[in-house]
Amino acid sequence: MEIKHARRLPQVFACALLLLALGGCGDDSQGESETGAECRLAIVTDIDETLTLSNDEWEKQKADGTYDPKARESAVELVQAYADRGYFVLYLTARSQTWVLSGTGETSTDATERWLVEHGFPMDPARSRLVLSEKLVPGDAARVYKAEALAALQGEGYTFDYAYGNATTDIGAFADAMIPKAATFIIGVHAGEEGTVAIDGESWSAHLAAHLPTVATACGPS
Ligand SMILES: [Mg+2]
Repeated sequence: MEIKHARRLPQVFACALLLLALGGCGDDSQGESETGAECRLAIVTDIDETLTLSNDEWEKQKADGTYDPKARESAVELVQAYADRGYFVLYLTARSQTWVLSGTGETSTDATERWLVEHGFPMDPARSRLVLSEKLVPGDAARVYKAEALAALQGEGYTFDYAYGNATTDIGAFADAMIPKAATFIIGVHAGEEGTVAIDGESWSAHLAAHLPTVATACGPS
């Protein structure tokens, strides 16, 4: 418990800044007292090349709206394991809401939500949120966009205990949000950069087996 609170101190500081800037910030201690439905302990995960096998999967779907992007092995089970422990799940992607899939005309927001549901990722309106960018955010702009999205949720009282991504912009945004490096898991070619935890290989299976047993239940039962 002491370690967990110590890990949250930077986010408490971030909240203090939000309190000054915005006039409001959530209670960081809610995890011990709120019911499961209200619990604001959270994880954040990128989608492309983190939950999917590669960025190419989304490119293929954009080019052909009937294409079904391949998920990484154990990606669903990993996110579900956090949901089972009471964590709120933020799916945070730099996919632009302005994109429309070729052939089907489906919006990127609808296609992304459908993919998550069809593949069995936890999608509970009260316990998860899908956030896409309102506009194209090329390059380092994705870091700023993701950091601002995380700050907005922190302003709502969410505390991000764990973060998952694959890109340098993920690493930067998670750092901007004061998420501990030891709880920032990066898969792919940038795994382990900037002091993050490297996930070797293409699968989440080993991480799921080794890490999740160490994750405590976020909040009490509702
Ligand atoms: Mg990605």
